[in-house]
Amino acid sequence: MRPDSSLIDPFGRHVTYLRVSVTDRCDFRCVYCMAEDMTFLPKQELLSLEELDRVCSAFVARGVRKIRLTGGEPLVRKGIMSLVESLGRHLKTGALEELTLTTNGSQLARHAARLAELGVRRINVSMDSLDETRFRQITRWGELSKVLEGIRAARSAGLSLKINAVALKGVNDAEIPEMIRWAHGQGMDLTLIETMPLGDIDGDRTDQYLPLSVLRASLMDRFTLEDIPYKTGGPARYVRVKETGGRLGFITPMTHNFCESCNRVRLTCTGTLFMCLGQDDAADLRTPLRASEADGLLHAAIDEAISRKPKGHDFVIDRRHNKPAVARHMSVTGG
Ligand code: SAM
Ligand code: SF4
Repeated sequence: MRPDSSLIDPFGRHVTYLRVSVTDRCDFRCVYCMAEDMTFLPKQELLSLEELDRVCSAFVARGVRKIRLTGGEPLVRKGIMSLVESLGRHLKTGALEELTLTTNGSQLARHAARLAELGVRRINVSMDSLDETRFRQITRWGELSKVLEGIRAARSAGLSLKINAVALKGVNDAEIPEMIRWAHGQGMDLTLIETMPLGDIDGDRTDQYLPLSVLRASLMDRFTLEDIPYKTGGPARYVRVKETGGRLGFITPMTHNFCESCNRVRLTCTGTLFMCLGQDDAADLRTPLRASEADGLLHAAIDEAISRKPKGHDFVIDRRHNKPAVARHMSVTGG
């Protein structure tokens, strides 16, 4: 075990990005993400905030440069700001380049200023519609006005924002041009995401699935899209929309396999490490974490896990494959 060494997988990819699902709970029930009636993990199964800090810090010691807190809804985890504060020490030393989060924005108005104070610079807010009724229909429980208030608070705290929208056939697809103008009008990037077959939901995913290649083609009737080499370390491919001057990203796990440059692993709130979003193989980090106060066993378990990082995933959504590719929801692995 060489705790000072970087993490390189069998395909030569450096793992420099850790996504951490700090809770599987959420105050929304987005139709593509969760069933309305969800059973969440018992609280005693969760890693404590101190344990989450220990695992994250072990990854930082091994060369992870970027940590994204996600969920479930990260801002509904009790005490979450103390984790942001403790991880902030790695930003101060320069060991960590970026600490960020993906949120549904419902609690952002309360937390935005403190997030900025603690060193968070950029956040992603997921928002699939600008229409109140449609927003409620997609999130089941969400209130658009609260999210918009959160976005305003984050902007005035000086945070840089990216809006993520899942493209849903017949639901919000007609609204995407308006969302582009709205986001770009406020200097925010917008990224469109294809639905992925993760976890059982109440509806039929084949009905929701909209290949972004189709959406992109229809956007080209209204906008001039210019390919640009912009990268954020994530899987999105960006274009510049000539008419707005803003950036538009496409995350296309279904129509374009982006695995070859994958630099990330995902930790769940119970300490399970998934080496690929679209595969079931996982490593238990909670047992080695709890087995000893020193981090030796934890580092050995991380090394062993990285040696098993698969080459990629193979998602399919069609009538014959209308089953989740993996049984767990995105809210477990962390989107
Ligand atoms: N609750 C936070 C939020 O919504 O931003 C963070 C967790 S959420 C699981 C992260 C992202 O995953 C969101 O942008 C959400 O739209 C996306 N997502 C959830 N389920 C998905 C699915 N089945 N396919 C594609 N994207 C999904
Ligand atoms: Fe909650 Fe985010 Fe899933 Fe929506 S996408 S249900 S906000 S975890």
